Amino acid sequence: MEINSINIEEIVKQVLQGMKDTPGSAKKEATNNGIPKTARVAMLTKLEHIELKEYPMPEVGDDDILVKIEGCGICGTDAHEYKRDPFGLIPVVLGHEGTGEIVKMGKNVTIDSAGKPLKVGDKVVTSMIFKDSPDITMFDLNKQNVGGADVYGLLPDDDVHFNGWFADYILIRKGSSVFNVSDLDLDSRILIEPAAVLIHAVERAKSTGILRFNSRVLVQGCGPIGLLCIAVLRTMGIENIVAVDGVAQRLEFAKEMGANRSVNFKEHTDIKDLTAAVENAFDGHLADFAFQCTGSAAAHSNIYKFIRNGGGLCELGFFVNGGNASINPHFDLCAKEITLVGSWVYTLRDYATTFDFLKRAKGIGLPLHKLITHKFPLEQINEAYQTNLRMEGLKIAVINE
Ligand SMILES: [Zn+2]
Repeated sequence: MEINSINIEEIVKQVLQGMKDTPGSAKKEATNNGIPKTARVAMLTKLEHIELKEYPMPEVGDDDILVKIEGCGICGTDAHEYKRDPFGLIPVVLGHEGTGEIVKMGKNVTIDSAGKPLKVGDKVVTSMIFKDSPDITMFDLNKQNVGGADVYGLLPDDDVHFNGWFADYILIRKGSSVFNVSDLDLDSRILIEPAAVLIHAVERAKSTGILRFNSRVLVQGCGPIGLLCIAVLRTMGIENIVAVDGVAQRLEFAKEMGANRSVNFKEHTDIKDLTAAVENAFDGHLADFAFQCTGSAAAHSNIYKFIRNGGGLCELGFFVNGGNASINPHFDLCAKEITLVGSWVYTLRDYATTFDFLKRAKGIGLPLHKLITHKFPLEQINEAYQTNLRMEGLKIAVINE
């Protein structure tokens, strides 16, 4: 396109007009450093109904951090809350897998929870909030996972309102853990929270002493959690991984994440036949170690059959109560001398480990970004949740702008 003198004259006129309008008049919605006076949150006001509500931008206290949100993933926990309100949080601003850029900080904030400097412009994530025990740090060895703490995105509404990551902004307050993750891309940052669940699970698995570099490892369930499990195992150098799922497409994805073989349980009529298929996938062996990554009680019952005598199992699929599962304690546990560990959520220390995992996974070429199959703007958040409820895709994310 050719820009002639008339165009230039017109542009100059417009620019001058814009400059005249700026002080105190046309830009009334924005304050000095571009922070608007009001912003939106996505408030779940009743079951399966999120409304965008506009509130005044909160005061940023001396210990607070105001973050302009870039994106946030939808977690299974969010979907449960959206559909049934099991936590009794309504009205609530959900979203705990979020990330964004610091736009304003209180004068007391200088470093993040790992001791890294923080400044305006840095990209951050939050993890737990230890309101009642603010002395807890990521270096505590005692298990302090989310079970004993609050998390942004699962807080009841209050007069601040900016409490969850499905919003334009979030106010991070004193006692919150916060991490500077400016060296990770947006997709990686959105995957930090779910990936931390797997870092924790693998740490639990390692505590059995059974998981080794050359172990035969079975991962049952290839949703986002199972796929991330495979990626974590592969990134730490475990190469003999068999994925089990009922969806061919997910099993293909499992291979991209680092599984060498896969077993589709739908192709096998009974547990004997299925066990034989697992054995075949490990070239005639049962698994040394297995990760159970589904919320299915039947899947929990089955997995013992796939593990060798003296093997190990990490059960991490039951984030919420999925009912009782039956096993035969004699055959499944005692006679085989299975070492079983449960895993739930993560600790702050796992969180920091996760940042390195994400960099290494990218370094060895695992296509983690493909886990985010759907991206919606904040205005379409109900559609985003409905997509999740329909079990379409893998990770659904809300991306601002
Ligand atoms: Zn989650």
